[in-house]
Amino acid sequence: MAKQPMLKFVTVDRDMPEKRDAKVRAHDFDEIYAEFAAAKAEEQASRCSQCGVPYCQSHCPLHNNIPDWLNLTATHRLEEAYAISQATNTFPEICGRICPQDRLCEGNCVIEQSGHGTVTIGAVEKYITDTAWERGWVKPAAPDVERSESVGIIGAGPGGLAAADMLRQAGVQVTVYDRYDRAGGLLTYGIPGFKLEKDVVMRRIKQLEDGGVIFVMDCDVGKDISFAEIREKHDAVIIATGVYKTRDLTGEGADSKGIVRAIDYLTASNRASNFGDIVPEFESGELNAAGKKIVVIGGGDTAMDCVRTAIRQGAESVKCLYRRDRANMPGSQREVANAEEEGVEFVWLSAPVGFTSGVVEPGAAGAAAGVVKTAMVQRMRLGAPDASGRQSPEVIDGSDYHEDADIVIKALGFEPEDLPTLWDTDGLEVTRWGTVRAEFGSGKTSLPGVYAVGDIVRGASLVVWAIRDGRDCVAALLEDLNAGAAIAAE
Ligand code: FAD
Ligand code: SF4
Ligand code: SF4
Repeated sequence: MAKQPMLKFVTVDRDMPEKRDAKVRAHDFDEIYAEFAAAKAEEQASRCSQCGVPYCQSHCPLHNNIPDWLNLTATHRLEEAYAISQATNTFPEICGRICPQDRLCEGNCVIEQSGHGTVTIGAVEKYITDTAWERGWVKPAAPDVERSESVGIIGAGPGGLAAADMLRQAGVQVTVYDRYDRAGGLLTYGIPGFKLEKDVVMRRIKQLEDGGVIFVMDCDVGKDISFAEIREKHDAVIIATGVYKTRDLTGEGADSKGIVRAIDYLTASNRASNFGDIVPEFESGELNAAGKKIVVIGGGDTAMDCVRTAIRQGAESVKCLYRRDRANMPGSQREVANAEEEGVEFVWLSAPVGFTSGVVEPGAAGAAAGVVKTAMVQRMRLGAPDASGRQSPEVIDGSDYHEDADIVIKALGFEPEDLPTLWDTDGLEVTRWGTVRAEFGSGKTSLPGVYAVGDIVRGASLVVWAIRDGRDCVAALLEDLNAGAAIAAE
């Protein structure tokens, strides 16, 4: 009888690729997990029980054919595993690194629910496509027929890039506009290198360029070119601009110098530490934690990225203030554990009510020129559940104290910019949250020939959902192009 290559979860334990020692990794921006060796990837893939109804697949936003590529990996058919993996995912090696697997595919793996550790789906997905890159299996788009229609994409993040890739594969001419100097959106300038090394993103950008995607960088739509001009130039337009407006702190001293936005702090770090750019605010120390006491406010993944970046920059101390407790934070528990190992202190059930500042800097302008010295912190407890069922934080009277801070980083979440006003486009409908109103599954907006994908539609979300949106949108857009309907300029 042939040997059963799968269902080894009973005899083989779950094992992740080696995680670098916290003392070592806290000093650099390299990824913290090593790659699986081939034998280890095969062994871990072989733990899958090949479910007839795979919950891992239904809880993956891309509905990746996980059982099949696990089987093919376990049986040494890696090139076929790659073909199946990339058929549903534009950037499998990126998702394998940064998807919150514990909430998606792995969190729904049935063998975990039967008491065994989940299959390491993300790590195997990363291994398959990293190996495909090494072996030259990843190729630029080479459409059989070039089409004459062109699509303009505003925003070079994962949503825009996934759409660009699908369109080029169909032979459509694609131009991507972005206000940054490098493509990738938050993959490049938001997410730190210790989660996603930048050469992994840059090789994808090159692949798209090699496949014929034209990038127009340093081009802020609404300033350097109008939205109307883009509509005129192209047969259809996809808006993929993400969400960048930072939720602000209120209270006395909230405008003090030294209270900075997470996106500015992370962008400066990514530029200086991963690309070697000269960033004046980093050089001056304004956006550099070296030798400083850092307080990060927030409990999401952005806050986790800030605290871990501050550790790597050599901060004297790093504290994360969050108004709920550990169990009720929105960020990934895996990232909290990584941060704690690296030396971050979490101050649960605490929220700032104001800030004191020190001496006014000579030459600094305005009444807000004082530099932050402490955060005034209130301790909280969790009260009765609100309408959503989540326990609301309540202030504990008389519990206020001062937390020393040289830099306070605001990581309270992001909101959309007001695109209709910025772009002078009344007809572009938005929701009451300011996100672009787009049809579910196609991304069609209120304007003919204009589609929208990713965070600008969903609000701050995940890379894998932006990829899904980009791919779904192109399927609808191609149908419209074929029917001659997607004419952007009216
Ligand atoms: P973005 O990636 O934001 O890209 C939008 C692009 O549009 C940008 O390049 C921007 O420059 C450009 N743009 C905006 N306005 C204009 C304009 N007017 N003209 C020209 N260009 C414009 N998700 C995960 O799945 N896993 C993670 O670990 C994770 N970590 C995160 C960490 C941080 C710090 C942050 C902020 C987010 C994180 N996310 C994570 C969320 C994820 O990055 C986003 O959901 C995803 O990048 C959204 O993709 P997008 O293409 O919609 O937008
Ligand atoms: Fe899991 Fe994300 Fe990969 Fe889907 S794309 S299988 S959710 S890691
Ligand atoms: Fe395999 Fe787990 Fe998916 Fe079942 S749920 S197919 S065991 S990875």
